Order: sequence, then C-alpha cells, then structure tokens
Amino acid sequence: MAKTVRGIRKSRVARTRNANSMTEAAFFQWLRQVLRKASIYWKPIAQVRKEAQVPYRGPNKRRKFSYVCNVCRHEFPLEEIKVHHRLDCGTLKSFDDLPGFCERLFCEKEGLMAICNNCHDKIHDKI
Ligand SMILES: [Zn+2]
Repeated sequence: MAKTVRGIRKSRVARTRNANSMTEAAFFQWLRQVLRKASIYWKPIAQVRKEAQVPYRGPNKRRKFSYVCNVCRHEFPLEEIKVHHRLDCGTLKSFDDLPGFCERLFCEKEGLMAICNNCHDKIHDKI
C-alpha cells in the first residue's frame, strides 16, 4: 500500500500480525529468532560440542578444555567454536517454509559439526 503524506510518497506495509503491530516480514523474522533461541535446549548441539572437546594443554591454568574445529582441525576455546548446520536452515518467510526450516534446525547430530568462527565465516561467505 502506498500513501501520500505532504506530497512525499511513503510506502506503508500493512501490519497484519500480532494485534496489528507487526508486518509479515517482521513476524517471520521474530518467529525465526524464537525458534533459533529454542535450539539451546536441543541436545544434539551440546553432544556435538562435547565430542569436539579435548583436554587443554596450554599455559592458562583456568582453562580445562579446547575444541577441535572440524574444518581446519585446530584447537580453540569454547567461545571461538560454533555448532554449524551442515544443511543450511534456510529462510523463514512464510508458513510454507516452516516444516523444512524446523526439520533442518532441529536435526540430529549427524547434521551438525563443530567449527571455529573463522571457518564458519568462510562457509557463509561462499553462499
Ligand atoms: Zn576452523
């Protein structure tokens, strides 16, 4: 819908969701974020992280573990490791995308791998 306000053509997207407070795009963006947050309770993600764990042998006395990146095979501290979905979860722009998105997001550990932030960025740059 386009509306003219004082001669300036302003495009207004209809707020059709959440008591007319959200546009379609904002709604699906929110839903995607909610589902992604829920994946912290998804056990295969913790499993994959645990399996990448090795004893830390460096000088930091407080650090017990390192995590091996599945791509470069280097060892990293926990905060530099991500659990990556082998199959990209894809976009969530309509209810039609929902079954596939959920199936890929909540996959078993075979669909996941631990990789370092660097390798993660490289994979996502390629797409
Ligand atoms: Zn790596």
